[in-house]
Amino acid sequence: MKLQLLSSTFEKDGSPSPRQHLTSLVVNDSVAFDAGSLAFACTDIQRSSIRDIVISHAHLDHIAGLPLFIDDLFSTLTEPVRIHSSASVKEVLETHIFNWKVYPRFSELTNDFGPVVEYVEFEPGSDTRIAGLSVTPIEVNHLVPSCGFIISDDLSTVAMTGDTAPTEAFWKRVDGLNSVNAVLVECAFPDRLADLSESSHHMTPNGLRDEIAKLRRRDCPIYVVNIKPAYREETVRQILELNLPRLEILEVGREYIW
Ligand SMILES: [Zn+2]
Repeated sequence: MKLQLLSSTFEKDGSPSPRQHLTSLVVNDSVAFDAGSLAFACTDIQRSSIRDIVISHAHLDHIAGLPLFIDDLFSTLTEPVRIHSSASVKEVLETHIFNWKVYPRFSELTNDFGPVVEYVEFEPGSDTRIAGLSVTPIEVNHLVPSCGFIISDDLSTVAMTGDTAPTEAFWKRVDGLNSVNAVLVECAFPDRLADLSESSHHMTPNGLRDEIAKLRRRDCPIYVVNIKPAYREETVRQILELNLPRLEILEVGREYIW
């Protein structure tokens, strides 16, 4: 499996900035998990291949690139872009984004080839097939309804928490898997902002240590994502000071193969 956390911004030399303002993870160049920077940072191959976009929750940093990704492709789509989400996320998107005021309701529009957007609702806890992947959404503990995902192709399995405060079911499901090649976990704020982290349902390095301790299996690397750019240096330092084996920061823009 190939996985890439798309860049949010770029350095002056064109290289990806390590600062993650937005979330969009692309698997096998063909399925996007969240669409924060999808319209802005995907490759031409990804733009022509991605027709399935899985949304964990409707916070702006996870959906900002969704309307523009569809807009950029509008006249060329020969099949609809499928938005996979829970019923509650679909409701938020249709009411607050694709409402003819913020942006067109693409689900009501067609081009020369037919519909341009199709919603595919998933049920948290149930396996679903998406473009050759097996995907299991699992509810996590965020300020709004939100899911983590367990994703498998023919070769590998990756689990990602998405945005979450301390959570339980996700770790139990990961422990029950036959094999896991990588776990992606969030950690947004440094420890001194524990109150903000708690009220916004995110995690700090201290919370991350307790969270990782819930995982009984010790056979896979754990990568941290979703570090708020404003506190990146401090948060990264505190994560590294945990000195946990197998714990790394996921590099923005790098292609991981598992
Ligand atoms: Zn969020």
